[in-house]
Amino acid sequence: MADFTSRNGGRPRRLVLIGPPGSGKGTQAQILADQLGVPAISTGEMLRAAVAAGSDLGKRVRRQMSGGGLVDDPTMAELVRERLARPDAAEGFLLDGYPRTEGQAATLEEILAGRGQSLDGALLIEVPEEELEQRMAGRGREDDDQGVARARLEVYRETNPRLVGYYQRQGLLREVDGHQPIERVTLDILAALGEAR
Ligand code: ADP
Repeated sequence: MADFTSRNGGRPRRLVLIGPPGSGKGTQAQILADQLGVPAISTGEMLRAAVAAGSDLGKRVRRQMSGGGLVDDPTMAELVRERLARPDAAEGFLLDGYPRTEGQAATLEEILAGRGQSLDGALLIEVPEEELEQRMAGRGREDDDQGVARARLEVYRETNPRLVGYYQRQGLLREVDGHQPIERVTLDILAALGEAR
C-alpha cells in the first residue's frame, strides 16, 4: 500500500473513520486518538449525550435518532463546526460517525477550508454483514435494539457507496479489514497511515 503522507505537513492527523455500525470505528478511534495525540470525536456519542442531558439539541434530535435514521444536515454541520473549533482539535482529530454521506463530506471540506485546513485521509473499516448483526446484538445500546440496528445498517448501505466514492476520487481512501482482533486492526490502520514502526 502506498504511503499515506499528510497534506498538512508531517504526520497524518486529520482523519475520518468510515464503517458500518458495529465495525469497531469507535474502539479504533479511541486507541488511535491516544497514539496520534489527537481527540477522538464521535458524533453519535455527542448526540446521545445531548439527548441524555435533555438539551435543546437533544430534544431536537431524539426522534430522528430513535428510528435509526440520520439527524438533519444543518444540525450536524453546526455540531461538527463547533466541535472542530475547540482548541484540542487545532492540530488534528479523528472523526467517528461524520461524515456519513457525500453531502456531509462536502460540508466537512468547507468547514476545514474555512480554517485553512484539509483532511489527511479517510479510513474505511470493512466487516462482513453477518458479523455486524451479531456484534450489534451483543452491544446492548438502546438504539441497537430490534429493528433499529437493522435500520441503521440499511441507512449505511444506502449512503456509504457515494461517500466512499467521494474520498476515492480525492485519493484519500484507505481500506482496512475490520474482521480481525482489535490490535490487528489498529496495526493495519497505522500501517495504512505510514505510522507503523
Ligand atoms: P453507529 O456507528 O453504530 O451507527 P453512531 O453512534 O455513530 O452509531 O450514531 C448513532 C446515531 O446518531 C445514528 O443512527 C444517527 O441517528 C445519529 N448520527 C450520528 N452521526 C450522524 C451523522 N453524521 N449524520 C446524521 N446522523 C448522525
